Amino acid sequence: MKYVGAHTSAAGGVDQAPLRAMEIGARAFALFTKNQRQWNARPLSAESIEAFKANLKKADIKAEHVLPHDSYLINLGHPDEEALSKSRNAFLDEMQRCEQLGLPLLNFHPGSHLKQISEADCLKRVAESINWTLDQSNGVTAVIENTSGQGSNLGFRFEHLAAIIEEVEDKSRVGVCLDTCHTFTAGYDLRTAADCESTFGEFDAVVGFQYLRAMHLNGSKAAFASRVDRHHSLTQGELGLDVFRFIMNSDHFNDIPMVLETIDETIWPEEIQLLYSLADN
Ligand SMILES: [Zn+2]
Ligand SMILES: [Zn+2]
Repeated sequence: MKYVGAHTSAAGGVDQAPLRAMEIGARAFALFTKNQRQWNARPLSAESIEAFKANLKKADIKAEHVLPHDSYLINLGHPDEEALSKSRNAFLDEMQRCEQLGLPLLNFHPGSHLKQISEADCLKRVAESINWTLDQSNGVTAVIENTSGQGSNLGFRFEHLAAIIEEVEDKSRVGVCLDTCHTFTAGYDLRTAADCESTFGEFDAVVGFQYLRAMHLNGSKAAFASRVDRHHSLTQGELGLDVFRFIMNSDHFNDIPMVLETIDETIWPEEIQLLYSLADN
């Protein structure tokens, strides 16, 4: 079974996100549990936690099909100790918010070396950050997203994801989210079914599908291997629809949240319908 949705707004409170997902015909969704551009947030109130859970039920969406995304400010591989510690504390807070909401996944971008430390050093820091956070939390899996490799962001090679997972102590609480736009612009082609076979085959060999916990379904404005992160609508841009047909017909993508972060949210209902229509059965 496929669970497709979109990154819905939590404006007005986290409890609004499931209702917005329901309105667009989503069976899964992503959200920020706090303002993604600020360090600090008020704790979630008991009322908003209850309302979130009630609305999730109302929307008939399971907690495991919700994919919270952390703040853009967090860098779990930061070269500076003080900044790293600030990021770790903020990430732990995000984990605890997920725990409070009863949500088992937290999606994040691995981190950036800021040209101050080596890639290997940065990946090690990310893994240590995950270990530090998992030690102090319960029931939430850290879901590492692959990136386009823009600037000094790591996670653009499958080997980066594997290196982080390798160093994580509790392998049952670490996973991966593949973003179709990021994968493509990082230099893994997905334009034809044969490209998908080879790229996802390489993913399976290097990381392993057993770690795949979520997908971001995006078109790409940026060119193949450009290392630029610019999403587009599914039917526009450089990627084409074959990758989405491939995903919707492959059992490797069953039962995980697959969310749109496409640029025109007014057409999300149509994009969700389109995705389901690409499935042969
Ligand atoms: Zn993404
Ligand atoms: Zn992106």
